[in-house]
Amino acid sequence: MAENANYFAGLDIGGSTVKTVLVDELGEVAGEMVEVRSHVKDGFNATFGQLESALDQLTSAIGVGREAVKGIGMDVPAPSCDGVIWGRANLAEDWVGTNVRDRLSERLGGTPIYMTNDGNAAALGEYAVRRKHHGGLLLVSPGTGLGGGLVLPGGRAYEGANGLALEVGHISVPHREDDGELPQCSCGLHGCLEAWVSLVALRRRIGIELAKDENKGHPLNDGTSLEEKAFRLRDFAQEGDELAIWLFRQQAQILGHGIADLVRVFDPGLVVLGGGLAETEGFRDDYLGWVMEGFEERAWPIYLQSPIDPEQKTTRFEWAIGGDSSAALGVAFSAREMFR
Ligand SMILES: [Zn+2]
Repeated sequence: MAENANYFAGLDIGGSTVKTVLVDELGEVAGEMVEVRSHVKDGFNATFGQLESALDQLTSAIGVGREAVKGIGMDVPAPSCDGVIWGRANLAEDWVGTNVRDRLSERLGGTPIYMTNDGNAAALGEYAVRRKHHGGLLLVSPGTGLGGGLVLPGGRAYEGANGLALEVGHISVPHREDDGELPQCSCGLHGCLEAWVSLVALRRRIGIELAKDENKGHPLNDGTSLEEKAFRLRDFAQEGDELAIWLFRQQAQILGHGIADLVRVFDPGLVVLGGGLAETEGFRDDYLGWVMEGFEERAWPIYLQSPIDPEQKTTRFEWAIGGDSSAALGVAFSAREMFR
C-alpha cells in the first residue's frame, strides 16, 4: 500500500442498510464493502456516527488512516439539491431542510462530499463497472417501485436544476384497467408508469386477474396473500403458466413503451435494466424479450439501428451487473472524478 495514496469513499445510505466502499486513485476497489444497519430513522447525527465508523473500518482494513480519504460520494433515498434533502421518504424528520452534506463534511474535517439520490447513484454504479463504456446510460429499475437514473457521456449523472430529474416511474402511460380507469400510483397520481411496472403493481394486477371467473380454478387462488402470490408468480411463469406469463408480459411491454419515450427524449445509447423484479437468470431473456416487444411498438426504427449501417445499434439493452455495491461504487467514482 503506497503511503501517500489517496482514496475516495462511496456511502450508499438506504432505508435498511448503509453500504460503503473505497476506491483508489485509479478507480480500483480497495478492500471489501462494509455494510452496516441503517439508522436513518434515528436522525442524521445517528447516521453520521455510523458512517464514521464504516469509514474507519474501510480505511483500517487497507492499513491507512481516515485522512487518506480525499473525497466522498454519498447517496440518500430521497430527492435532494445541493446537499439539502427535499422530502422524507424513509428518513427521520431532521434530515429535511438541513444541509446534511455540509454538516457531514464539517464533521469529517472538511472532506469534500458529492451527494445525490439513490437512482442516480445506481446509474453511476452501472456506468462505473462498464469500464469501456463512455457514452450515455439510462438505468430503469423495476422493483418495489420504479427507479431510474441517467448518466451523461463522460460519467456525470444528470440531476436536473433542482435534483428532481429522472423520476422515470411517474411519466404517464395511457394503459387502463379493464374498468377503464387509470390505476392509482404510490405518488397519488393516476396513470403513472410505476402503477403498471413495479412489484406493488404486480400485486394489484394479480388480485384483479385472479378474481375473474375464468381464473377461479387457478392454483394461485389458494387463500395466500397477494405478497405471497407475487413472490411465487415467477416460478409459475417459468413453468409455462399462461396467466403468470401474461401478467409479466403485459408489465414488461408497458415498461418497453415507457422506455421508448425516455429513449426518444434522452437518446442514451445504452439502457440498463435493474431492480429486483426480473433478476432471476433464467427468466431474464423472456422478460427482456417482452420489454423489446413494447419498445419496438413505440420507438421508431432509428432508435434501434442506424439507417446508414444496419449493423450499428443505436440503442443497446443490458441487464444491471453492478450488484449490491453498485450505488456505493457509483458515488465513489463520482467523488474520484470531482475531488482527485
Ligand atoms: Zn406516480
